[in-house]
Amino acid sequence: MGTLSIVATPIGNLEDITLRALRTLKECDVIYAEDTRVVSKLLARYDLKKPLRRLDAATEMEKAQEILARLEAGERVSYVSDAGTPGISDPGARLVAQVRAHLPEADIEAIPGASALTAALSIAGLDTTCFTFLGFLPHKKGRQTALKKIVLFDCPVVLYESPHRIEKLLKELEDLPVSRVIVARELTKVHEEIVSGSAADVRAHFAVRRETVRGEFVVIAVP
Ligand code: SAM
Repeated sequence: MGTLSIVATPIGNLEDITLRALRTLKECDVIYAEDTRVVSKLLARYDLKKPLRRLDAATEMEKAQEILARLEAGERVSYVSDAGTPGISDPGARLVAQVRAHLPEADIEAIPGASALTAALSIAGLDTTCFTFLGFLPHKKGRQTALKKIVLFDCPVVLYESPHRIEKLLKELEDLPVSRVIVARELTKVHEEIVSGSAADVRAHFAVRRETVRGEFVVIAVP
């Protein structure tokens, strides 16, 4: 019976990969990736060559069947998403569920590493004894309900947001009883920054540079 390795990859800085992740990618038979072009850059950086297959959100269930057959044949299969830890607002969770359900004797191993969630929390300066992760809020249907949920928790709530919607989200947070917002932008990259203040202050900070503010954002709403 084979092994499925769920391998965390960097969230920006290509040095943020563990020795175990590199060895796993080197020794496996095949790498399934959310986007083979993205993982190719990482593999090139570490001089690794491997057969690559795509498994994204749209093909996760179908490719899971292919991976089940490989595991039955004793292969070592790695899965990587575009960045960070698979299954965290990324494909991977349904693949693992399929393998657990249909091939309980297969080994499934976590190769932990970077995640924007833990990276942001680690430098936010908050008491993280308790926190809630809601990931991406729904864009349309269910958004208002999800926003209301944020204030039900009495510990920090961590959200993921894209550059197109960051301003909208901060505006929405202004209307909620949130005492402070912390935004972690471009973690591990050249333009990494942490901005903290009221939702209005943080929105103003980014609004000034609207044309130039790009990148990836973790938003932490503090009750
Ligand atoms: N699996 C990833 C993880 O473990 O963090 C998350 C993937 S999710 C599709 C992408 C979102 O994660 C981005 O929209 C952003 O909210 C957050 N993110 C990823 N990389 C980031 C970075 N370098 N800085 C800030 N946020 C980041």
